[in-house]
Parts: sequence; structure tokens; C-alpha cells
Amino acid sequence: MSAHKFNPESLMMSYGYKPELSEGAIKCPIFQTSTFVFKTAEEGKAFFEIAYGLREKEQTEELGLIYSRLNNPNLEILESRLSLWDQADDCAFFESGMAAISTVLLEFLKPGDLLVYSNPVYGGTDHFVNHYLPSIGVDVLGFHPDESPSEVKKMIEATGKSDKLAMIYMETPANPTNDLIDIEAFVELASQYSTSDKKVFTVVDNTYMGPLWQHPLQHGADMVLYSATKYIGGHSDLIAGAVLGNQEVMARVKGLRTFLGNMISPNTAWLLLRSLETLKVRMDKQTLNAQKVATYLNAHPKIESVNYLGLLNEDSEQYKIYKKQCTSPGAMITLYIKGGEKEAFQFLNNLKLIKIAVSLGGTESLAQHPMTMTHAGVEPEHRKRMKINEQMVRISIGVEDADDIIWAISQALDKV
Ligand SMILES: *Cc1c(COP(=O)(O)O)cnc(C)c1O
Repeated sequence: MSAHKFNPESLMMSYGYKPELSEGAIKCPIFQTSTFVFKTAEEGKAFFEIAYGLREKEQTEELGLIYSRLNNPNLEILESRLSLWDQADDCAFFESGMAAISTVLLEFLKPGDLLVYSNPVYGGTDHFVNHYLPSIGVDVLGFHPDESPSEVKKMIEATGKSDKLAMIYMETPANPTNDLIDIEAFVELASQYSTSDKKVFTVVDNTYMGPLWQHPLQHGADMVLYSATKYIGGHSDLIAGAVLGNQEVMARVKGLRTFLGNMISPNTAWLLLRSLETLKVRMDKQTLNAQKVATYLNAHPKIESVNYLGLLNEDSEQYKIYKKQCTSPGAMITLYIKGGEKEAFQFLNNLKLIKIAVSLGGTESLAQHPMTMTHAGVEPEHRKRMKINEQMVRISIGVEDADDIIWAISQALDKV
């Protein structure tokens, strides 16, 4: 019996929290405090020695609570719970998904380095990579899902800077196209450029799948990133992000976070603790709904095509990647309506139940037009290459009744 290993969903209500430290409260209270009292001056000194790495932690010693920019019980419990899903050594939560992404890019890339990244990526990531990083002297090279690792290798060689390659960044499935990138193949490519004194890091934005349906660390990636605003938060009432990885990389991520000060507040951490309790039931229901909705859309005469992982052609390269690294088709559907912007907008404006809004992964279904909304800032030529066009509508499927969602969509399509 003692050897029984609980699944993460069974531990989301209790893991890492000791009721006896909080008057027996069943739920972790919000530790709305900026600083923590040391019992003695010696204790304060010892905590700082560990926090600043001035000496090694002794075996029985734990880092005490110091100051809420460094640590806070809500944050620590939340980080240990999210770590269970990806079986990561450690996790760091941030004020937003973009704070998590930009902190990782700033920590692991220095002027003169080369970053290789997959396309498309989230609009904010695209902007940071193509506008901010070049301004501090980082070279960037984008590749597309239809380019194989050996083709990408040739592109890296052609830059003449292959010895400067520092990171391969992937977003898979990609927002908003649902394109997949082969994580293991690009981890292998990165390893070809790693030397004994310089590791080429691999990072995966797993927002679309995570932390349930894809585990990039298990496929060899060094870090996994989330916009916790999406499935992890799941109720469209907060903004947050997370990074997970091994002890070594997380010490660097948390080190920079301490100085940027972009950790989440105790209140947001507390909301996320509540969200994690229902993460699995929410995501299970969302993907069941999405599978029904995608099947309906795929057969509809006013729809040209549907990008959904549950509808991949079994002979395709994308399907092979899907089988290798995903355990569910997820709950994000991208459709191409027949016509153009006019038809797409008619569809959106006539939806009932489903609101027109960006963001995704929440309990309610949301629809948006990527070309003029989330990806409006992406270069038009680049957008065209990725088929983010007038006809594209992205729908995030929520936990409503599946037949109600289908009805809401069908009556809107009738009006197009
Ligand atoms: C939303 C999103 C982000 C950005 O996260 P924020 O929490 O809005 O900062 C990054 N990547 C993907 C794939 C996203 O969908």
C-alpha cells in the first residue's frame, strides 16, 4: 500500500500544504504579506546564505521564508503542485506567460548568440523575438513546420553562425494553426551543436496542450513554458505564466526572476491553487466537446477545412508527430470558412453563447479572427506563409454542453 503512487489529479487538493502550520485550515490561506519574521538574527543570516548561494544547503535544511519577491507559501505550494504534471524538478510562476517567456529568453541568450525558433508562435513571442532580441544583438532564425530538421540544419549552417547557436525554441501545437513540431528531432539537432562547455538549450511553449496532453521534458526538452492564463488558470480571471525544468536551469530562471521581480502575487497564486483542483476534469471535458465540434465543422458545407489534431490524415508526417508526443487532440479548433473576412466576421457576429474574445483554455468557449486580432502585428508576408488569412477563425472550446456549442455554431453558419 505504501508504494502506491498517486496521480497528479489526486494530489491537487493537498500536495505541499501542511494544515498544522495554518491553524488546521483545510485550504491554504492567502499569505498576503510582503515579509516574514526571523526567529533570531542567526536564522535570518542562514536563510540569506542559502538564498544567495553563499554556501551549500545542509541535508536537513530548508530555505526559510524571507520576503515575498523571493518566496511565499502560496507560490511555493503552487510551484510544487504544477511540477507533478510534467514530472519536473522545479517550477517558477510569473506575472504572465510573456514574463515567463521573456525571462527565459533573456537568461539564456546573450548578444552575438543565435536563436532558432519555430513558426508560427504566439503574437507576443513573435514580436519579442523579431523586434526586441535583435535590438540587443541576438540573431534569430525562424523555421516552419514543413521544414525538416535536416533542412533546418542547412539553414543554420548557411548563417555562418552555427557555433553561436544557443537555443532552439518551439511552440507546438502552434497558435493559431495547430501545426506540430517534432520535439525529439529538434532536441537531437540541438545536441549536435552542444559542446562540453556550451549547451544548446531546447525550450517548448506547451500552452495549447498543457500540462495534461503533452510532456516536452519527457521528450528531452530542457524547459517547458506555459501561459497559465489559459488552461492552468482556466477561468479567464487572471494572467500568469510558468516555467519548468531541472534544478540547474530553474536556479538560473529563478535567479533572474528575483531581480526582475516578475513573480506572481500571493493572491494570484491562491487563485491558481483553486484552478489546479479541477484542471483534469475541465480539460477532459473540453477535449471531448472539441472532438464533437470539430467533427461537425469538418462536414459542414460552408467550411473549407478544419485544423484539429483529431482530424489529421493518418498518412501525414504531422500525424506521426502527434502519435509520438500528444495524448489527446486538445480543445483548440482552427477553421477556414469559405469566402473571406466578410464571411468570417458574419460568422463571429452571429454566434450565440460563444463570445468574440482572444485568449483560450477557459471554461467558456471563445472565438476570434487571428489575422486581424492576435496575429495582426505579424508581418503580412510572414502571415501568408503560415496561412493565417482572412478565412481563418480560431475557437477555444469550453466546458458547456457539446450540443449547445454545436447549435450556437450551426445557427451562426446559417446566417453567413
Ligand atoms: C497566451 C499565450 C502566451 C502569452 O501568455 P500571457 O499569459 O498572455 O502573457 C504565450 N504563448 C501562447 C501559446 C499563448 O497562447
